[in-house]
Amino acid sequence: MKPSIPFDNSYAALPDGFFARSKPRAATAPRLLAFNAPLASELGIDAGSDEAALAQAFAGNALPEGADPLAQAYAGHQFGGFSPQLGDGRALLIGEVVDRQGKRRDLQLKGSGRTPFSRGGDGLAAIGPVLREYLMSEAMFALGVPTTRSLAAVATGDEVFRETPLPGAVLTRVASSHLRVGTFEFFAARRDASRMRQLLEFAIARHFPHASTPLEFLQAVIAAQAELVAHWMSIGFIHGVMNTDNTTISGETIDYGPCAFMDNFHPATVYSSIDRQGRYAYDNQRHVLPWNMAQLASSLLLLEDNTDSSLQAYTQAVHDMPGQIDAAWLRRFGAKLGISAATEDDRPLIEALLALMANQGADFTNTFRALSSGDVRAAAALFSDPAPLQDWAEGWQSRLAAEYAPCDLMRSVNPAVIARNHRVDQALVAAMNDNLQPFQDLHRVLATPFDLAETDADYAQPPRPEEEITATFCGT
Ligand code: AMP
Ligand code: MG
Ligand code: MG
Repeated sequence: MKPSIPFDNSYAALPDGFFARSKPRAATAPRLLAFNAPLASELGIDAGSDEAALAQAFAGNALPEGADPLAQAYAGHQFGGFSPQLGDGRALLIGEVVDRQGKRRDLQLKGSGRTPFSRGGDGLAAIGPVLREYLMSEAMFALGVPTTRSLAAVATGDEVFRETPLPGAVLTRVASSHLRVGTFEFFAARRDASRMRQLLEFAIARHFPHASTPLEFLQAVIAAQAELVAHWMSIGFIHGVMNTDNTTISGETIDYGPCAFMDNFHPATVYSSIDRQGRYAYDNQRHVLPWNMAQLASSLLLLEDNTDSSLQAYTQAVHDMPGQIDAAWLRRFGAKLGISAATEDDRPLIEALLALMANQGADFTNTFRALSSGDVRAAAALFSDPAPLQDWAEGWQSRLAAEYAPCDLMRSVNPAVIARNHRVDQALVAAMNDNLQPFQDLHRVLATPFDLAETDADYAQPPRPEEEITATFCGT
């Protein structure tokens, strides 16, 4: 039986210029690699139990009734340089559903072949990056971070040519929308105020219905993105490719290309092999997002009269963002240390710990987790010189005397396990050799990151020197 999806498409009803209709490429021998049954049920999808039918549907060979596949238009600043025309070059929005909670969600195939926006690209994706996005996005969801989700991964049976031939795959991505800063930049670059207005109306209705002006909309996006980047930083996440086409309007994390979780803490950590100047390094993330929001602000100014007062209000909205990020950062890092409502007085304590961790290359996740059980000795053992950490902990513990249940708070925000690069890599290498077991095991462990079974303790281990991965590659 073919799966059935209660499509209710709204983006496809927008006028000319927002998208180009396009068909998925036929896959030769679709085979289901992963399917997210709980998410399917949340979306009201009747998936049935026929794996072959699911593979046909989510490879794009036999799209369920009501699908209306289209490639969305967008532009974007990539590493600071503007491209007026990007768009879905290897993705198709197949439609939308209203989920069980009444929330509208997009379903998108990624890696389903060329579209009118493909430029020189082949429109395809390989198994490795597809399963990587599946794992990472679901891990982020389990950590409580707003993110796109993964519904299905299907091997196509076709080859994808990169440096070598690789097995191809298609990911089905679910998002509360695929609107990006780059979608606004697309119409701004064309000075198309009429479509900009329609886009704004669509985005407001979908994400921020309380916003009644372009400025209020900007402020709402800024608030969501400020919270998001502080959340990333609190779990040691490095997105790696924070271009404006990869910055959502919804405030969800999108585009799991070269992203990674840090092992040892250092603020300048970069994994992405194409980020040569460290533009998107761990600690720069909070500086880059306001820059991205400035691009949204300047796009929206197309709808304003550009008098002094409108320019000032937009500038102010962007200038307010670093303070918002910082406040969210303080709240989250305070909680990581068991402080329920951190104030400026607590900042030196947090910063002192991070400085010690950076100086000694201590493991980010495991340091906070060890402190979560109040086990200073275990935490100190993660430092090459334990003495300074022990001194620091005296001040910390006296601060915690004023807190009610600091360890409970800490255990709820400090994961015991993250998607460590070496583990992800091992799972993907095995999957490419037709062994999905390590992928499935890692996926299972990452589904409950605050609660690691004794038998899975290995997953919390940092890489041994020979396992360490220092560079990640884009989602090719
Ligand atoms: P990304 O770096 O993943 O954010 O992608 C940037 C742009 O390149 C988007 O417009 C993508 O659709 C496009 N793109 C990336 N990979 C491919 C590919 N293999 N074929 C066609 N377009 C691609
Ligand atoms: Mg992208
Ligand atoms: Mg990408």
